Amino acid sequence: MEIACLDLEGVLIPEIWIAFAEKTGIEELKRTTRDEPDYDILMNYRLDLLRQHGLGLNEIQEVIATLQPLDGALDFVNWLRERFQVVILSDTFYEFASPFMRQLGYPTLLCHKLESDKNGMLVNYHLRQVNPKRQAIVGFKSMYYRTIAAGDSYNDTTMLAEADAGILFHAPDNVIAEFPQFPAVHTFDELKREFLQASNRTLEL
Ligand SMILES: [Mg+2]
Repeated sequence: MEIACLDLEGVLIPEIWIAFAEKTGIEELKRTTRDEPDYDILMNYRLDLLRQHGLGLNEIQEVIATLQPLDGALDFVNWLRERFQVVILSDTFYEFASPFMRQLGYPTLLCHKLESDKNGMLVNYHLRQVNPKRQAIVGFKSMYYRTIAAGDSYNDTTMLAEADAGILFHAPDNVIAEFPQFPAVHTFDELKREFLQASNRTLEL
């Protein structure tokens, strides 16, 4: 059997922190791991900002619910689920992803978790495990599943390398140049073809 593993942000939905920053006008939330490489410092900075702006989980989810998956993402997910068991492996948080999951028909999602207090303010975050995307592939392989993975960025490359087949989708030029071993495509039609080609079964579009 084969499992298709998909990254979420940049593949099926926009980058949540960026889209959320644009929607709320809180520019400081556009800071990413490129600006602050220490993830713990970055996350605590983000949680502080949300508290300062009085944004608890309910308010955050209301904003996120106004955002949309990328054009064609729902059709693509449905297409993929007809042909593969699909698991989304993401570095986002369930609390942020859930409004998108509703729009995508609740595919299986493995990601991190946020912790809120009794007033709904976010107070902490909990990573699922270290190197979570790669470890999920290792786990599926231990169950003798064949894995085909697609993602758009650096945090996907260990997953793509561990999988039986890895595909870059919507990746920026620097990632494509640094990882020439992975095919790189930019449209859902091309991505479908890459999945068909990577499959060891005879499947059709
Ligand atoms: Mg991504």
